[in-house]
Order: sequence, then C-alpha cells, then structure tokens
Amino acid sequence: MAGSNQIVARRAPERTCIGCRQTAGKRALVRVVRTAEGNVQVDQTGRRNGRGAYLHADPACWRTALGRDALTRALHTAVAPADREALEAYAAALPNRDSATP
Ligand SMILES: [Zn+2]
Repeated sequence: MAGSNQIVARRAPERTCIGCRQTAGKRALVRVVRTAEGNVQVDQTGRRNGRGAYLHADPACWRTALGRDALTRALHTAVAPADREALEAYAAALPNRDSATP
C-alpha cells in the first residue's frame, strides 16, 4: 500500500556550540537561557522562554565559552558573577568526554 506508511523526514535542528563553534543536533547540546529577569541559567528542559545559546555537554566547551565571554555576546547580556559561578559549577560537574568513552 503506497503512502500508507509514509515516513516524515524530520530534519534535526542544528545549533552552533558557542564554545567550539561546531554545529550539532540540539540533543547533543545544552541550552543556556537568558531569563526575563536578566539571569543566565542552564535550561535543562530546552523550552524556557528567552534568548538561548547552546553548548556541548563538554566541560572544555564551557571553559572556552566562559573564558572568552562568548555567552555575553551570544545572549547580549552581561553574565552576573553569581550566574557565572553556577555555570562554572555546572560545567565542572559534566563528565569529561574522553573519560566517558567505554
Ligand atoms: Zn562545543
């Protein structure tokens, strides 16, 4: 039966990691959002309102992004010291990619 089992080709949305600047599927990236209050937070759900930036779940990308203020540019806002600390803590808790390989 032609057409009865139509496959809908869904293109995975690609985003650019602001750390290493490589593109990846959204699922491989962690979203950071600028809230309405001007806070910069990790968006675990990926659905929060506000301007977002994406980073690999890789501590190296976070260090790079935080080191050169990529978030400030991507989100068009200054990252408050407290938010920055929270992001650094989040990055530190991420598993290293190299050690994660089986
Ligand atoms: Zn990256």
